[in-house]
Amino acid sequence: MDMSTFFVLIGVGSLMIILIFVTVFTRRERAAPRKGVRSDILADELERHKRENYHLKAELKRFNSLNNLFFASMIRLTARLNPEEIANETLGLLSNYLGADELAAFLYNEKGKRLTIVAERGIDDNLIPKIVYQLGEGKVGLTAEKRLPIGNKEFEFFGKIIEPYDGFMPDICYPMVFQDKLFGVIAICRGSDFDEREKNLLGVVSTMTAVALNNTRSFESITFSASTDPLTKLFNIGYFKDRLQEELNRALRFQHSVSITIIDLDKFKDFNDSLGHQAGDQLLIKLAGIFKEHFEDTDIIARYGGDEFIVMCPEIKKQDTARIVENLLHDLEMYDFAHGQSRHRITFSAGVASFPDDGSTVSELIRSADEALYEAKGMGRNTVRIHYPKVEKI
Ligand code: GH3
Ligand code: MG
Repeated sequence: MDMSTFFVLIGVGSLMIILIFVTVFTRRERAAPRKGVRSDILADELERHKRENYHLKAELKRFNSLNNLFFASMIRLTARLNPEEIANETLGLLSNYLGADELAAFLYNEKGKRLTIVAERGIDDNLIPKIVYQLGEGKVGLTAEKRLPIGNKEFEFFGKIIEPYDGFMPDICYPMVFQDKLFGVIAICRGSDFDEREKNLLGVVSTMTAVALNNTRSFESITFSASTDPLTKLFNIGYFKDRLQEELNRALRFQHSVSITIIDLDKFKDFNDSLGHQAGDQLLIKLAGIFKEHFEDTDIIARYGGDEFIVMCPEIKKQDTARIVENLLHDLEMYDFAHGQSRHRITFSAGVASFPDDGSTVSELIRSADEALYEAKGMGRNTVRIHYPKVEKI
């Protein structure tokens, strides 16, 4: 190799080394930004995350408060035992969630096959009592008939539906159904469609409302059977004693009298023996109806047991009560109890006692009225006797 070739090779080699250095150096520069630039990016990123977190937190808070409202309403709903309160709770909850202008809850009357408003929001006061739907009438009636949730789109499927009330045009209706039983319909007017989330909510709330309404019916039937005589449907003696105790407390405070009367049918055994026990039962039912008509709504009439009845007349003196009972006896004398072709007369004997003269407790008063009744039987029956406390001889 001559000298010139040697120098050329040295030159090319140096050039390549320089090129390699430049490439590596610039790569490293690009891969590792300067410290100042990196912290700026991190600060931006942090700020963005902060903003996102803030929005998420606000959204979560909104959801939480809505959920809390929802659960609180649900608890209140199932704890209530009055249909009007239940329906009001439901509408309050729905108007919170759905922002609707007009909402109404209708209860279904099975006998009349009608739906009437039990609670509402935003409906004209004059219109409320007029809004009544028959089954199949308008969107409300159709929802009840089909037992299906129906919005504007579904209504198109059922053809043209004539709404009977110009002032109330629901956009969506949900039936309140539980265990195959229709309790009513929830109807909502908002002027806009409902999304899937809102429809799900409406489905849950209307079913929960039906459950709550079912609870009120169970409660009513339990309290009814706990306080009612199964044959005559009058109150039973347990309920009567409770009410008498309440009335005595009131009478003591306000210084007024309370009368009670025990009525026992005369020779009822003979009636049973000649016409049969079933005819006797029918007579007891008929008599219960006559007693209810004869006494005031504020009086409490109960079946004491067998052929005995007991009546409480608050704020009435025993002499006045005795007159009322004598009139009843007189009315009965006129009354023919038909059984098949035969007609029968029925009489009773009765004993009257009152607070405070004849006793200040439930048992004392009942004992006094019983003594008077015993006296009436002893006097030949078909009569009313008033109890008078015995005057102690000095
Ligand atoms: P008295 O004038 O002394 O009262 O004569 P009575 O025959 O009515 O005798 P009492 O009041 O002592 O007997 C009541 C009768 O009532 C006895 C029973 O045959 C009848 N009885 C009691 N409970 C029922 C009932 O639920 N249905 C029917 N059909 N009869 C009853
Ligand atoms: Mg009798």
